[in-house]
Amino acid sequence: MDTSLLEVKSSRGKVKWIIDEKLAKKQGLDDKRLRLIGDAYREKDRIERAMKSAVKTSARIKARGGSPGYYDRKLQPLFRLWKRQEFILQALWRFELDEKFHKDYLLPGCTCPKMDNDDAYPVQRWVSADCIFHGGSHPVVANSDKSKV
Ligand SMILES: [Zn+2]
Repeated sequence: MDTSLLEVKSSRGKVKWIIDEKLAKKQGLDDKRLRLIGDAYREKDRIERAMKSAVKTSARIKARGGSPGYYDRKLQPLFRLWKRQEFILQALWRFELDEKFHKDYLLPGCTCPKMDNDDAYPVQRWVSADCIFHGGSHPVVANSDKSKV
């Protein structure tokens, strides 16, 4: 195994993710797969940065009393891309494809309680009804105990 591949650099060239060597060996990841995982982390990061930027712009427009509908609407497709990227990463890692391991409550724009979700991870989800991603009829909400929301 080329151990330099365990240090995954951001698109700006800084080491941003460290892949656990033991886990990588246990999952039987070869160099080719490690490269793909690196690309997948960078792509997920790119999506997160686009989300962060849309959230910031939306907040700025709201603060001026404007209507940020365009930026809020941009978040939904980005969220779907992010979910897809999480599944790609699970597949590359040879993990089970399971949505409950996606930490999407940490995403920019998510208004669900972070600490409660960290405590309950991955067993249960706490959602805010007003969350742009998880409020309403999101599948994660349908799977969790709504009485505790
Ligand atoms: Zn949320």
